[in-house]
Amino acid sequence: MAHNSHTIHQRKRIALVAHDNKKADLLDWARFNRGTLTRHSLYGTGTTGSLLENELDVPVTQYKSGPLGGDQQIGAAISGGEIDLLIFFWDPLEPQPHDPDIKALLRLAVLYNIPTASNRATADFIISSHLMQEEYENTTPDLERYRNSKRNY
Ligand code: PGA
Repeated sequence: MAHNSHTIHQRKRIALVAHDNKKADLLDWARFNRGTLTRHSLYGTGTTGSLLENELDVPVTQYKSGPLGGDQQIGAAISGGEIDLLIFFWDPLEPQPHDPDIKALLRLAVLYNIPTASNRATADFIISSHLMQEEYENTTPDLERYRNSKRNY
């Protein structure tokens, strides 16, 4: 598929999500990285977002809770070009009622070339990248070309 490019600005729009068994880990990581995180715009699923807002004492835009559609809302925001990074500490040991939504979110993150951390070490590497302080030209799928390629049906 052909690609478009778009600029990820210095101030990133970061979505943060953690499953229940991973919330303490994400909060601890966010506390440690508060200085960097608060230079960006933060978004989260309902419970994760409100815990982060309390922990960091900065506004966090909150979607619905994950099992109530929050993961799908973040996926829609990614497809709308409204999210630049995804920090998603998902639980590999517990089944989740909204498993299809989680899969859909992770799929869209790959499709739209969104840097994604599924665990703490990856989140450390992302947040300590010099690209966090810089603009970055990202590539996203060329949806016009994709649509045109379907016109023959
Ligand atoms: P929550 O949702 O932040 O509302 O708990 C996270 C999830 O389960 O995807």
